[in-house]
Amino acid sequence: MQKYSFLSLARNALTYHENWQRAWRSPDPKPGYDVVIVGGGGHGLATAYYLVKEHRVGSVAVLEKGYVGGGNTGRNTEIVRSNYLWDEAAHIYEFSLKLWEGLTQQINFNLMFSQRGLLSLGHTLQDLRDIQRRINANLLNGIDSEFLTPEQIKEMVPAIDVSPRARYPILGASLQRRGGTARHDALAWGLARAADSVGVDVIHNCEVTGIRREGGAVTGVDTSRGFIKAGKVGCVTAGNSGVLASMAGMRLPLESRPLQAWVSQPLKPILDVVVMSNAVHAYISQTDRGELLCGAGVDSYNGYGQRGSPATLEHAIAAIIEMFPRFSRVRMLRQWAGTVDTCPDACPIIGLTPVKGLYFNCGWGTGGYKSTPGSGWVFAYTIAQNRPHRLNEPFSLERFATGHLIDEHGAAGVAH
Ligand SMILES: Cc1cc2nc3c(=O)[nH]c(=O)nc-3n(C[C@H](O)[C@H](O)[C@H](O)COP(=O)(O)OP(=O)(O)OC[C@H]3O[C@@H](n4cnc5c(N)ncnc54)[C@H](O)[C@@H]3O)c2cc1C
Repeated sequence: MQKYSFLSLARNALTYHENWQRAWRSPDPKPGYDVVIVGGGGHGLATAYYLVKEHRVGSVAVLEKGYVGGGNTGRNTEIVRSNYLWDEAAHIYEFSLKLWEGLTQQINFNLMFSQRGLLSLGHTLQDLRDIQRRINANLLNGIDSEFLTPEQIKEMVPAIDVSPRARYPILGASLQRRGGTARHDALAWGLARAADSVGVDVIHNCEVTGIRREGGAVTGVDTSRGFIKAGKVGCVTAGNSGVLASMAGMRLPLESRPLQAWVSQPLKPILDVVVMSNAVHAYISQTDRGELLCGAGVDSYNGYGQRGSPATLEHAIAAIIEMFPRFSRVRMLRQWAGTVDTCPDACPIIGLTPVKGLYFNCGWGTGGYKSTPGSGWVFAYTIAQNRPHRLNEPFSLERFATGHLIDEHGAAGVAH
């Protein structure tokens, strides 16, 4: 790992970082690899890192059509939590949260991981019943979760309006104290450096345009930089997963939709927990730079445009102002969107495909950032062993044929 002394930091600052070492190499693609990972987001990079670190796979490349972290990994609102309803989801997200808790040290990169707590608000009697049910389910799975009354919420979040006259009256909330945020760019850069340090070729500007097969088995990928032979190919391309699947003659049960986020001008510290509301489809936190970082639910149409529609934005901003009236005069700085891949049961697909040597990890929809290390870990296991780990076994493609869906809409109803 690279180490910088104070003197070298000062010298580099004065020379405009001219002699700053690259954090990871920029190699040209080799003619072939044992494993090719398509997609240089957090999940792809984590998969490549664990493939070498945990399974000693000889040669691995990550092919990214743009730049590392330029997809949803660099566009999300950074929320990390594990309080999902069903056992299958709770287990994989909790496994991931535990990896997050040691990841900064493991990859020696400050991920600004902040377990500042996460509140999910309830506005109706039915919301409260759902919240209580989820808290009980979480506790049964050993996941920290507690109920807060409106008075306790007000004590924790003085800026929020808990008065009974509010348009969306706040009747209670669940709190996961171990939930919080982590800096998304840092995750992408940290994982790219970690993968590089164990010998993975992280290759930018290399778009996969075809998946070659022979006798029902994968043989390599066509790319904008030529053909690359591969014994195994793992696709981790989020909103573009349907496009990749069609290259292998498959259709996945996915819809790709825009998901928006936006930030305000920087403010003095005013909000030190994450606040979300499924019912009003909006959520908010404050970044370490002081910006209010907000998000909404998915836009209601399919598409690959990374923009989103004003109607969704307006609805979510209006809801946030109802809950935090004092933010009505805050100026918004910028808005953006990613393309999220949503499954009918709001759960991912992680596993083998009918094509031998071809694996997919997708369908994380609005909530895959928090699962990045866990997803990479189980996907690396799956590719290396050619069988799912028990944590991702329930998330196979077959569940859409057998009907064993895991309905996480309740816990994943709002983007996060
Ligand atoms: C606005 C927004 C807010 C969100 N907020 C949260 C949140 O708070 N918490 C949370 O847990 N999740 C959140 N998410 C979801 C989360 O960001 C994603 O689930 C997660 O980042 C997916 O990671 P990934 O590595 O699979 O995908 P990506 O980061 O999208 O990486 C996929 C990569 O594949 C590349 N690619 C695509 N096609 C090709 C090709 N043909 N060849 C080569 N490369 C290709 C893309 O360029 C991209 O870099 C949010 C998403 C958005 C858009």
